[in-house]
Amino acid sequence: MLLCELTTPIERLAGVGKVRAADYREKLQVSTFADLLSLSPRAYEDRTRLTSIKDLRGEDNTINTKIIVVSHTYFGGFRKGERTLKIIVKDLSGTKLSLLCFGRNFLEKTLSTGSVWFINATVSTYNGEWQSSSFSVFRTQEEAGIGRVIPIYPMGGSLTQKSIRKDIKTILSNKYLTFDDELPAHLYDKYSLMHTDSAIRLMHDPRTMEEVRASRKTLAFTELLLMELALMRQSGYEKATVKSRISDLEEKLISSLPFTLTADQLKCLDEIRSDLDNQKAMNRLLQGDVGSGKTLIAWISSLHEIRKGYQVAFMAPTELLARQHAEKAAELLEPLGVRIAFITGDVKGKGRKLLLEALARGDVDIAIGTHALFSKDVVFRKLKYVIIDEQHRFGVEQRLALTGKGDIPHLLLMTATPIPRTLALTMFGDLQVSSIHTMPQGRKSIITYLVKEENRQKMYQTVGVEFKRGHQAYFVYPRIEDEGESGLRDVTNMFEYLKKEYPDVPSALIHSKISEEDKIRILTSFRKGEISYLVATSVIEVGIDIPKATCIIIEHAERFGLAALHQLRGRVGRSSLQSYCFLVYSDSLSEDGKARLRVMKESTDGFYIAEKDLEIRGPGEMAGSRQSGFLRLRYASLVNDLDLIEIAKKEAMEIIAKDRGLISTENYMLRLLISKGYDNT
Ligand code: ADP
Ligand code: MG
Repeated sequence: MLLCELTTPIERLAGVGKVRAADYREKLQVSTFADLLSLSPRAYEDRTRLTSIKDLRGEDNTINTKIIVVSHTYFGGFRKGERTLKIIVKDLSGTKLSLLCFGRNFLEKTLSTGSVWFINATVSTYNGEWQSSSFSVFRTQEEAGIGRVIPIYPMGGSLTQKSIRKDIKTILSNKYLTFDDELPAHLYDKYSLMHTDSAIRLMHDPRTMEEVRASRKTLAFTELLLMELALMRQSGYEKATVKSRISDLEEKLISSLPFTLTADQLKCLDEIRSDLDNQKAMNRLLQGDVGSGKTLIAWISSLHEIRKGYQVAFMAPTELLARQHAEKAAELLEPLGVRIAFITGDVKGKGRKLLLEALARGDVDIAIGTHALFSKDVVFRKLKYVIIDEQHRFGVEQRLALTGKGDIPHLLLMTATPIPRTLALTMFGDLQVSSIHTMPQGRKSIITYLVKEENRQKMYQTVGVEFKRGHQAYFVYPRIEDEGESGLRDVTNMFEYLKKEYPDVPSALIHSKISEEDKIRILTSFRKGEISYLVATSVIEVGIDIPKATCIIIEHAERFGLAALHQLRGRVGRSSLQSYCFLVYSDSLSEDGKARLRVMKESTDGFYIAEKDLEIRGPGEMAGSRQSGFLRLRYASLVNDLDLIEIAKKEAMEIIAKDRGLISTENYMLRLLISKGYDNT
């Protein structure tokens, strides 16, 4: 049978009563035999060899060894009932060890002088004496698990390691039970995988760590392959087959630029162009650090579709950014005869009516705006290409609403918060990824300082010097107003404070409670240089482009995720001027917290930072991953299994290309497993 067919409810297992069954369901989400057998150990303890005290190395302080009881004494207290038994034993290497039997004085009888036992114990030295107060004794080597690798399961409630191991053993000892292979036969050989039955059994009862690795590899690969297949089938993935040619419009724009495109930009353009010429709608993520030239690629690739007579929509997360993009587009594209419309919620009345009519007639080639682009009254004539800037800012529904406007248009998602490869490969099965790793030449890299409280004054001085040079700055705080309890610095108070620090330097306050009109007014004068610094919350996170801004000061930096810090830092370093980022942290920050901030000092590479962020926070917290719901992986790890994920994706693509319906005999099992919801989606 297939593992997932073993749907017997967990309370039917001999010895599992109401309480344990409830704990299985609630604490471990285990409700059937299959669920229990799919419970992946969180760790393993290697007891393959006997280890005595003399064998201990490094931090390890656990022993599994044979002992002989030497003598008994009591310590502590005055009366007999208050004293604690101490059993002196010798281990295999002849080293003396004292077993401190807190609450276990009854062991005096069992562990009689001269008797021999096997023991698992955690030991330490005290006054030159080896001691253990945490130990278990067994009559036989077998009972002690010596010679095996012991799985350690997640626990909860009344469930103990012992009870979980016993329950799993009970199921697996049924001699009529064997599990069918879940993968097409040729994959077992190709990747040296175990048969499914062995993989399941060895996961719970391995003899060596090598068997642990091999069984986990098999189960993780199976899981990933099924997930990728399920995603690809849902989305209708198809391999691009067309070889594309660049259009004259694109060439004109490229040759009009005062610089040459980077190699990465050219590569991404090729990838996008061949998707655009494919029958099947593109679904592509374009990622690269702020300023790496993504938006330019979006404009160039738009021309590819415009040349064919189609319309393009470009959506930005805020009014402000949409406006900034529209201005840039006008400068680049209008000379080529491209007709641009700017549509946001604020464009109203007669002007809006005229714009919408032109759009519906097909007299507009490219519409740029906020999500208002996709309100009901906006009708395109032949929308074929949708570009979304800073895609992580939009929810899934918004993305769906917009793709509903044309007959499944091509979709390009842009982000300056790179997604680690493992996530990109698993989050959206059919999402293709283009990456820009290198920045255009001539950008100075940003110097990052970690600033502790006592250096605050020095930091203000450094920033003050920048103001004298005519440069600008952002001061960022996590809160608009401190609610009084947190003790955090906030924008409202710091705005007043900084006015005293920099008496004649013009500044402005900007946060989410300020009206959109005021924001635009403030940012326009900031851009003109009439304002020298902004005091802001993380509203300035996305996309503002002010070349003269050379300093960003982020206070309580430890409260921001690495990805957010990276985004914020991207507000500076946007010209050839040397820029600085100051991350101010509180004196009480833990070593871990400092290590996290040090990643920011070490690197300005968003890809590296994203990988570190994933490592530190785990996939559950990553931007966008929660809503995707595709991440409930049992065996595979998004931090460590990049290789396996890549192979699984490649194999899934091949399987789908040959047998989309999974109807061949060889793929039948895969279809069955997907239909049973093996992939948890
Ligand atoms: P992103 O969207 O990735 O933040 P943009 O496309 O807005 O980046 O580019 C940032 C700035 O760099 C723009 O002013 C753009 O004209 C310029 N730029 C883009 N590509 C290059 C290049 N290859 N060389 C020099 N400058 C470039
Ligand atoms: Mg951008």
